[in-house]
Amino acid sequence: MNLASRMSTLAAEGAYAVLSSAQELERQGKSIIHLEIGQPDFATPAHIVRAGIAALRAGKTRYTPPLGVWELREAIAKQVSAARGKETSSGNIAVTPSGKTAIFAALAATVSAGDEVMYPDPGFPTYRTLIEFFGGKGVPVPLVESNHFSFDMRVFRKKFTRKTKLIILNSPSNPTGGVIPKRDIEEIADTVKGRSCWVMSDEMYSRMLYDNTPYASIYSVPGMQKQTIIVDGFSKTYAMTGWRLGYVVVPEAIIDRIDYLLTHTVGCTAAFVQEAGVAALRGPQKASEAMVKEFKKRRNIVVPLLNAIPGVRCPVPDGAFYAFPNISSFNKSSKEIAHYLLHKAGVAVLAGSDFGRYGEGYLRISYAAKLPILEEGINRMRKALEKLRTSNKTCYSSSE
Ligand code: PLP
Repeated sequence: MNLASRMSTLAAEGAYAVLSSAQELERQGKSIIHLEIGQPDFATPAHIVRAGIAALRAGKTRYTPPLGVWELREAIAKQVSAARGKETSSGNIAVTPSGKTAIFAALAATVSAGDEVMYPDPGFPTYRTLIEFFGGKGVPVPLVESNHFSFDMRVFRKKFTRKTKLIILNSPSNPTGGVIPKRDIEEIADTVKGRSCWVMSDEMYSRMLYDNTPYASIYSVPGMQKQTIIVDGFSKTYAMTGWRLGYVVVPEAIIDRIDYLLTHTVGCTAAFVQEAGVAALRGPQKASEAMVKEFKKRRNIVVPLLNAIPGVRCPVPDGAFYAFPNISSFNKSSKEIAHYLLHKAGVAVLAGSDFGRYGEGYLRISYAAKLPILEEGINRMRKALEKLRTSNKTCYSSSE
């Protein structure tokens, strides 16, 4: 029996494939350092867990309205209004059972067959997959290392056409940790404002910024709220990856459509999870802030260690918890290097090309792991890459 043709657009995500190879090696008794996983290594803050348990005990185990409970929508709107400097109300908010569902809803709402969608490359693999799933035509815009891994604006200017129906932004970025500078946000806004083109701004890591890096959201640009869908969630900020809680911020004019989409797909987000979300937003932010402080400390150790490996160049990421070192000097594909590091050094990292073809020449290293683990992982990488470099040299000199 044939499946619908759209099903052939789906493929495994690099991170899951590497994780299962790494786990297989562990089953064989090998020691593996996991630097491939994109989730905080911290427990969900205790007051959030307590709120979830209390909600379960209080019988919050039934359906809620598809757009979410009013208290959570209110709390999200308040947070968005304060953070983005634009008045936003619960009428702009739809709660979803994950950031991924929020992306699904945003694309389902905006992309028709044949529409062009510009997206960051390297970028979160779900973007390209879902663009294709909805029959859109993906237009990758390369991210440039020398511009905080923001869009190559020359390509953006050239590729933006009347057919562009959606532009996907992600800042801070997975996989690069780059933060889009304000001038690029303003140029993108100037380009699309008033045109029949949406912007989906994935702001999942926007609370994870270092060194007072200024944050520019296209939602804050006057006039852009009408065309922008913010995707955000609780997974990263509150270490809640397994709870599955996200949301979209949309213009009020389309909230009914999102309501019906959620009605006929997920129904609603788990009631007790939403209560935990209210506690996350209204409760103390200390645990979340402490997490960011710890990530910054790790970044400040990890990046110099990576740069100390001959042949590796690692820009300092301004946000998220990923380092994206350039390993192109080894003259091997990033997949070969990632495979070599996993099998020869016992370090699981992701190939940059898992995030798109412009990710070739890079590795993604998640520093969501404890410092001794990170240090051991990079130490193993250093030894293995030095060996590779020596064997490269020997091989070149013997063939000269
Ligand atoms: N957006 C980005 C850029 C991400 O990196 C992730 C998760 O890794 C998500 C969205 C989805 O997060 P979740 O579905 O856990 O809320």
